[in-house]
Amino acid sequence: MAERSCRRNKPELLAPAGDLARCKTAIDFGADAVYIGGQHYSLRSRASNFTDEDIKEACAYAKSHGAAIHVTVNTIPHDGDLDGLYDYLKRLEEYGVTAVIAASPTVMRLCRKAAPSLQIHCSTQMSVTNAQAARFLQEELDIDRVVLARECTLEEVRAIAAECPVDTEVFIHGGMCVNYSGRCTLSNRMTKRDANRGGCAQSCRWQYRLFQGEEELTENREFFTMGSKDLCAAAYIRDLMEIGVTSFKIEGRMKTEYYVASIVSAYRHLIDALWQKGTLSEEEFIRYRKEILKAENRNTWDGFYQGDDAGSLIFHANSDVNVNHDYLGRVVSYENGSAVLLTRNPFEKGEEIEVLSPNKENRTFRIASMRNEDGEYLDVSRHPMRKITIQVPFAVCEGDLFRRNRI
Ligand code: SF4
Repeated sequence: MAERSCRRNKPELLAPAGDLARCKTAIDFGADAVYIGGQHYSLRSRASNFTDEDIKEACAYAKSHGAAIHVTVNTIPHDGDLDGLYDYLKRLEEYGVTAVIAASPTVMRLCRKAAPSLQIHCSTQMSVTNAQAARFLQEELDIDRVVLARECTLEEVRAIAAECPVDTEVFIHGGMCVNYSGRCTLSNRMTKRDANRGGCAQSCRWQYRLFQGEEELTENREFFTMGSKDLCAAAYIRDLMEIGVTSFKIEGRMKTEYYVASIVSAYRHLIDALWQKGTLSEEEFIRYRKEILKAENRNTWDGFYQGDDAGSLIFHANSDVNVNHDYLGRVVSYENGSAVLLTRNPFEKGEEIEVLSPNKENRTFRIASMRNEDGEYLDVSRHPMRKITIQVPFAVCEGDLFRRNRI
């Protein structure tokens, strides 16, 4: 990679969380901020959303770790959806939430009135792709940050950040909509679940056969899918830092605790390395990118950062999944060289295990010995949600995660 400085303000790493456990995990593994959804007014209503008590606890945990909580209030509300919103926004302010992510001018106006100290972040659902739109939102609705549309090219992000009077946030990883986010009614049509009120059934990822009247258009009766590749903008992190983007966002409030830990940790290491060194060798970059992709099970692409004509590259040629690592479980305790693992997937004695720990490089070891809850020695652990005691040749901590390379 060419020599160039990327030293402006260090960007925030913003992680998704569908529940309190995932929120704490994201913070433990290096997120500067976490975005969550309450039980109302949020897209992804099927993600296990936070009660008021959960939001309070998330804020307290974030505060004690120097992190921040953003709350999505990003449905496209109809009149009947606004009941109780004023009081909800007031409560979010009281709990110590830093920002709400909103997709409606009504919610933004209400938020300024109800909870003046809350930052207002304009959601990607508003599809901001130019500086004039950002300026309009800042002047008219007093927003603090604009989450840019995922469809922006790198040069468009550069122009908006240069001319924009508010902070900018961009997506760096995760699922993409084949339609502009929030401008899709495919799920509504196919399932009567409204994508813009939190009900997206991901109908774009289904497999279809296409007909024009009686004539089948799909060749050899192969299925057609609009499923998109996942974004992985690792190659653009340095440029985005140089541009001065305020926040790097990871998509995925429906994702597992393992995914959140793995992706957050990998980007944390990449951002810190770039921040410290300014540039990375090709070899170093490949190593960081490989780490990011260990948690991916879909094909990835660089997103629209690479230019307008990249749009055609978003589609999967098929809907194959590429799971390359298996999540084996989470450490619940460690003492005298033995870790107790709450298991998720089967594994065997003799296998090489990779350990993910907050603020540490990943470490590996081979399982020399393991026992079940009755103290019996095992060759194979077959079942999920069992507590298996495993000899580990280095200290691990509660919350560390074990995984195995399956390739
Ligand atoms: S159906 Fe697909 S394109 Fe439409 S909102 Fe859902 S994920 Fe996005």
